[in-house]
Amino acid sequence: MHNGYDGGWSGWERLGGMLASAPSAITREVGKIDVVACGTDSAIWHNSYDHGWSGWQSLGGTLTSSPTLCGWSPDRLDVFARGTDSALMHNGYDGGWSGWERLGGMLASAPSAITREAGKIDVVACGTDSAIWHNSYDHGWSGWQSLGGTLTSSPTLCGWSPDRLDVFARGTDSALMHNGYDGGWSGWERLGGMLASAPSAITREVGKIDLLAGGSDSAIWSGTAQASVPPVAAPAAPSASVRIHAKIIAPPSVPLDDSLARMVEVYATRGISVEVGSTETLNIPELSDVEVGQCVMGQTSAEQNQLFSHRDNAGGAEAVVYFVRSTIPPYNGCAAHPDGVPAVVIAQEATEWTMAHEVGHVLGLQHVNDNHRLMTGNGTRNIINPPPELVPDEGAIIMSSEFSRRS
Ligand SMILES: [Zn+2]
Repeated sequence: MHNGYDGGWSGWERLGGMLASAPSAITREVGKIDVVACGTDSAIWHNSYDHGWSGWQSLGGTLTSSPTLCGWSPDRLDVFARGTDSALMHNGYDGGWSGWERLGGMLASAPSAITREAGKIDVVACGTDSAIWHNSYDHGWSGWQSLGGTLTSSPTLCGWSPDRLDVFARGTDSALMHNGYDGGWSGWERLGGMLASAPSAITREVGKIDLLAGGSDSAIWSGTAQASVPPVAAPAAPSASVRIHAKIIAPPSVPLDDSLARMVEVYATRGISVEVGSTETLNIPELSDVEVGQCVMGQTSAEQNQLFSHRDNAGGAEAVVYFVRSTIPPYNGCAAHPDGVPAVVIAQEATEWTMAHEVGHVLGLQHVNDNHRLMTGNGTRNIINPPPELVPDEGAIIMSSEFSRRS
């Protein structure tokens, strides 16, 4: 969809295509626009405007993230996206498309690329270690360099001169984080706000940066900075809360605090707060490996029932999360529980998203076949472009659940 401003906004116009990702657009010269997006066939598609739209053309490839586009001259375009093995992939146009080339790296997010002067490209992406990584081109690629940090979204990159770069991404507490290059990297600084999406930044003139990000109330927030960076809007007040209790039979590989932080992050996008009411260690080694059968809602094993009888501290409408060594058969977790006894089991080797996912089931959420979403039925280990989405309908289901509280 396209909306143009030329003294006033044109309103949204449908440009067709079957997009599986966010688009990326640039303008290389007055009156011309190039747009790329990942199609539902996982190929990258390109559309361009020059007195009219050219229509979508496939650039091929099998990509697993939104693409990013830059171009250092009217005749040059460079497209980047993450490949199936998490490496950065590149396709360049210089009279004709070069085809996809692999640039390495272990990306956990979509990349962001810009060109500050002819012949030079900078690319950043969030690595699988949650740090931001940087790679640059100047007659050849420099290779990946870590900029450190612990970020929870795709980064966005801008630069107002050949010697200046600014990187923004969301931090672990959903605040906007910034790292700038001006001869050397400044290190990460926290700029506050409560972001529900990756930010987007551009610089239109020296010393100014424009930023856009989705707030936790689903609005798009924007700000302009003079040489520094803008405040991002304050969060909307939570409109529901979920209180859970942790019972530890075997300590999880991902610490409870980390799983909780991930859950807080995802649920906050729908105005739902999450708290752990109590944490208790249970000495019941005979239930370290819990029989869960086929893990069907309402059909629990004798071992599950025995485990779920330990509900000290938990109210009737509060889910208890039992951390065990394993389930039999082996799952990351299982949300099957008897009626009126909200409980989930989480295995030691579960991912950082498992708790948020399993409690989601208790709150009434079903699986979806979409690895961008928390409730993917393909395993939270296969989540693409974290943090995964909790869509508005799912937020509404949680808010109407007997196991959440309206606030
Ligand atoms: Zn599930």
